[in-house]
This record gives sequence, structure tokens and C-alpha cells, in this order.
Amino acid sequence: MVEYKCLNCKKIIRMEELGKRARCPHCSYKILVKLRPNVVKHVKAR
Ligand SMILES: [Zn+2]
Repeated sequence: MVEYKCLNCKKIIRMEELGKRARCPHCSYKILVKLRPNVVKHVKAR
């Protein structure tokens, strides 16, 4: 799942909520930061 963070209101917006408009649905701010899900891979070095 891809999520974005609005730099204006600091809310997390899912890509589904965004739709085709790349702007915040809460405050109409245009600058959104893409968040990466914290996928931590544990790799054993042996
Ligand atoms: Zn916003």
C-alpha cells in the first residue's frame, strides 16, 4: 500500500483517497511526500 503525507496538514493520505488528483483531500495542498512502508527484512548473514 502506498501512502502519502501532506506537508501542510501532516495527514496521511492513501493513494486510493488521492485518486487522480495529486493533492491533499483535506487542505488541497499539492505537495505530498510519498511514504514507504517499513518493510524490514531480516537476513541472516550465515
Ligand atoms: Zn493536507
